[in-house]
Amino acid sequence: MNDSLKTQESMTIHRILLNAYGDHPWSPDDPVATLVSTILSQNTNDVNRDRAFQQLEERFADWEQVRDAPLDELIEAIRPAGLGPTKAPRIQEALRRITQERDEISLAFLDELSLDEARSWLLSVPGIGPKTAAIVLLFALGRPAFPVDTHVHRVTRRLGLIPSKTSREKAHELLEEMVSPEIYYPFHINLILHGRSVCHPRNPECGACVLQDHCAFYAAVPTSTDS
Ligand code: SF4
Repeated sequence: MNDSLKTQESMTIHRILLNAYGDHPWSPDDPVATLVSTILSQNTNDVNRDRAFQQLEERFADWEQVRDAPLDELIEAIRPAGLGPTKAPRIQEALRRITQERDEISLAFLDELSLDEARSWLLSVPGIGPKTAAIVLLFALGRPAFPVDTHVHRVTRRLGLIPSKTSREKAHELLEEMVSPEIYYPFHINLILHGRSVCHPRNPECGACVLQDHCAFYAAVPTSTDS
């Protein structure tokens, strides 16, 4: 399938997912809060991430306090998200880096940079990879970056939108080229919802899947995954 056909196919899949999971209008968010929340979300679920973020907000009055807090205090505050000894220094390092560069804890300046410049800046912060950078850019700032988490990676490879051996990092690049930027946000969210509810890592529920007719994985092994 050539690039233009892939773009059409991704749009068709997007429309099917819209019918299944609904639309998700974008609204702006604080990029620093999005960055911290994304670090908290690593290797945990949304509920634990949100509990940790809430505790953070209750315990500290502002990002400066989070940046300067004794490490053990911050680890304790974000305990619900797990991996506190890894995530707490990562959060403080990111906040220190922002302070060094901007003299304040704000990422609003990213909106004034080109997409490539903004992404490069985020990637230069220790602990921020392509997914976190894309989440900050898309979710908080509405910039055309396409985040690829484990669900998006798995579902788009199974569908055949990207080759099955594509790395997560490379998937960002391929999907950004293929998918129309105006659908990045709802398409990303609906791929995650589909990955969580139907296209599980193990035993995907292909028999109940609305994307059967668009799925390379299903076409290759149509009976072995029906259940
Ligand atoms: S048909 Fe199966 S493998 Fe393909 S998207 Fe649906 S659940 Fe996933």
